[in-house]
Amino acid sequence: MTIERFHLARFIKPPEECGCGFKHEYSLKAALFGRIEECLELLDEYGIRPPYGVFYDPITYEIAGMDVLKILGAKGFVVSSPTYDDAQSKLKKVKELKLGTVIAVGGGSVIDVTRYVAYEGNLNFVAIPTAPSNDGIASPRAALYHVSQTGELVYTGTAPAKPPDLVIFDMSIIASAPKKLISSGYGDILSKLVSIKDWQLARDDLGERYCKNAEELALAALNTIIETAKDRKEFDSLNSVKALCKALILSGAAMGIVGSTRPAGGSEHMVARHLEIGFKRKIPHGVAVAIGTLAMGTFHELKNPNWWKEDDYSVESMKKYLEKWKIPGKLEQLNIPVDLMVEAITESWKSRPERYTILHKFKPCSE
Ligand SMILES: [Zn+2]
Ligand SMILES: [Zn+2]
Repeated sequence: MTIERFHLARFIKPPEECGCGFKHEYSLKAALFGRIEECLELLDEYGIRPPYGVFYDPITYEIAGMDVLKILGAKGFVVSSPTYDDAQSKLKKVKELKLGTVIAVGGGSVIDVTRYVAYEGNLNFVAIPTAPSNDGIASPRAALYHVSQTGELVYTGTAPAKPPDLVIFDMSIIASAPKKLISSGYGDILSKLVSIKDWQLARDDLGERYCKNAEELALAALNTIIETAKDRKEFDSLNSVKALCKALILSGAAMGIVGSTRPAGGSEHMVARHLEIGFKRKIPHGVAVAIGTLAMGTFHELKNPNWWKEDDYSVESMKKYLEKWKIPGKLEQLNIPVDLMVEAITESWKSRPERYTILHKFKPCSE
């Protein structure tokens, strides 16, 4: 089996050329497509050194965590929840063991906890996703929750974290992920249509710093999956899922070069988070994001003269893509109460007052 190397260097411009004022620093060197055991042989070539710690949850342990542990003779860590408490306790152990590299085997929560530990412990970080479910894989921020005294999860925005140095996609694992997690990945990328326009709104109304190269990366991600929606291949075919993986990396790089989720998370993610918390995280992230994207895209089309003019980027086109990607676009299909959706639109932006979006501009109220 050969390993395909997807290098990011050709997509990222020197900061002088962009002129945005961001540093365009990004640690991810490559995404490798190949069998895990063969890809792990390349760790040394990418400067990734032992001793290794491997993070997983009980499910991803069975899928690949156990194999990675054995191959590397590493120390194992079970991630129980995407919370600061869990991440801090892991960080303490990692420091005691003086590890050089942490490796995440899993989906969003495992990767978020691991990348936070990598950042706080100043360690190398390798991500081995088990599903193409969100663009957090390669992002520089971690979505972690605080736990309130009553045990509720409280979200106050992402924490600083380290993007991976290397991502390994084993397509035999990724392509057999549950279909709703594959759908979720497409939904998370679709959101760039709204997040970019929210960012432009902040640029135009408030003079917020804006990076054209990050926009190009986000649109490259988006166009990659729109291609798959237009051709005749199924959304979960090997080629489509591989394209989705590349899109997730490109979107991560958009965030990476500006060191913030700004290019990839606007009002649609605020609405989505509200729904996710309302549903105790039982809706896949990207599916909640797709619902947020449709709602906020519609709001932009109505209110924002700077909304996309391209047919491919219209709300009508979005609805067609969602059908192709098997993402339910209607509230009733997901049993989302109308009240919860109204609350998400009228309240969610208040938790992120500093991240200006179309919701901050027009402050919709429930009447
Ligand atoms: Zn997302
Ligand atoms: Zn730039």
